[in-house]
Amino acid sequence: MTQVHNFSAGPSILAQEAFDKAIEAVRNFAGTGLSILEISHRSKEFEQVMDDARAIIKTLLHIPDDYDILFLQGGASTQFYMIPHNLLERKAAYLNTGVWASGAIKEAKLYGQVDVVASAADKNFSFIPKSYSIPLDADYFHCTSNNTIYGTQMKSFPDSPVPMVCDMSSDIFSRPVEVSKFSLIYAGAQKNMGPAGVTLVIAKKGIFGKVSRPIPTMLDYRVHADKGSMYNTPPVFPILVSLYNLLWVKESGGVAAMHQRAEERAALLYGEVDKNPLFRGTCEVEDRSNMNACFVLAGDHTELEAKFLSACKEAKISGIKGHRSAGGFRASMYNALPLESVQALVNVMQTFN
Ligand SMILES: *Cc1c(COP(=O)(O)O)cnc(C)c1O
Repeated sequence: MTQVHNFSAGPSILAQEAFDKAIEAVRNFAGTGLSILEISHRSKEFEQVMDDARAIIKTLLHIPDDYDILFLQGGASTQFYMIPHNLLERKAAYLNTGVWASGAIKEAKLYGQVDVVASAADKNFSFIPKSYSIPLDADYFHCTSNNTIYGTQMKSFPDSPVPMVCDMSSDIFSRPVEVSKFSLIYAGAQKNMGPAGVTLVIAKKGIFGKVSRPIPTMLDYRVHADKGSMYNTPPVFPILVSLYNLLWVKESGGVAAMHQRAEERAALLYGEVDKNPLFRGTCEVEDRSNMNACFVLAGDHTELEAKFLSACKEAKISGIKGHRSAGGFRASMYNALPLESVQALVNVMQTFN
């Protein structure tokens, strides 16, 4: 197989071991002689996968005992409305740091009053707002840890006076998280955890049951918690492959090691962006994401963009084109991306003219 340097923003690179084990499980899952794709989700072999997946997530993130770990469907986008459906009685506070945060705000407005405590929209989401106050009478405060599209990342989280909810879709498992600061954390798997099709939710026990509206069964977190994410058929294959990918994270030293690797990749790439006169970073330096690095051609020589993209293609670099709403380039550097891939990109930047 020719090696491609995969900088895709999502679905994105996973550990090679995860692919190899997934192929085997499609052929013969856990020695059953059946494929993971045809075996019952109630089989003891799959029940074991669910237990192992919860256990490894709990270990990797040091999740306290009073949190439920759920595997849901519908992507992070479903969480945008499932959260207010379950938690917003009167008013919620949101931090607007990008396209995904704006999407979450739009959905929350269907349920009640939304106070946007701060927004980076006026500067094209190129920074993380830091001075804002969270109203004490909000039902919860929602933030987005990593702005996948514009390339900013919250390096620290506020001490919220109300329950804090966080969309960690694009940087979960890339750095240690103080889970006890949050009431609910969610992440679509396909950025840094596994394949598309499963959404991880980590929710503090006892936070639900306080809204007066009726909650359809499938939208009720308490049902999924009570049933161990088996109220209906869970997304068996994405959960299994996520488990395999997280086993690789654990064997590679856990999230502390992932954080170190992320810092090294980011230092290498941003170092080149900053010293190479042909390129320019688009975000405030202190808020730049370790996961998604956004940059443009200096002097806005957009006519050279196609040329740079084809130089990347030549070097087997994939997924560098910026998101349609941000333009330029975006290098997504998730857990499984080796430093050598970043070096390959830096080499192209250095020889580009
Ligand atoms: C990709 C992404 C989403 C959307 O995830 P889906 O699983 O496609 O719904 C939401 N939030 C962030 C931060 C993302 O990066």
